[in-house]
Amino acid sequence: MGTNDTGSGGADGTSGADGTGAGPPTRCRACGWDLGEPPWTAQGPTRTICDCCGAESGVDDVPVERARDYRRRWIERGAEWFDPEVRPADWDLYDQLTRLGPA
Ligand SMILES: [Zn+2]
Repeated sequence: MGTNDTGSGGADGTSGADGTGAGPPTRCRACGWDLGEPPWTAQGPTRTICDCCGAESGVDDVPVERARDYRRRWIERGAEWFDPEVRPADWDLYDQLTRLGPA
């Protein structure tokens, strides 16, 4: 409260380079979707709901085994989007999964 700090001045900037090391990762731990904001910070989970798989950070992605299990069940259900309106036209599940890397 108090200071009128809306902060973000069009903070999109770096879309292409998936900065290794620059800031906390913004990818969903369950499905690899780029949430646009870090699901976890130094303070802990941000309770971000993934638009793609619907996982909630701090709930569905801890421990790592639960995130894997969530992902498997989500894929088994058909990998349906939590918010289909956000889904890119050229979205590719397997391409996204490769971005997860070793969990
Ligand atoms: Zn997700």
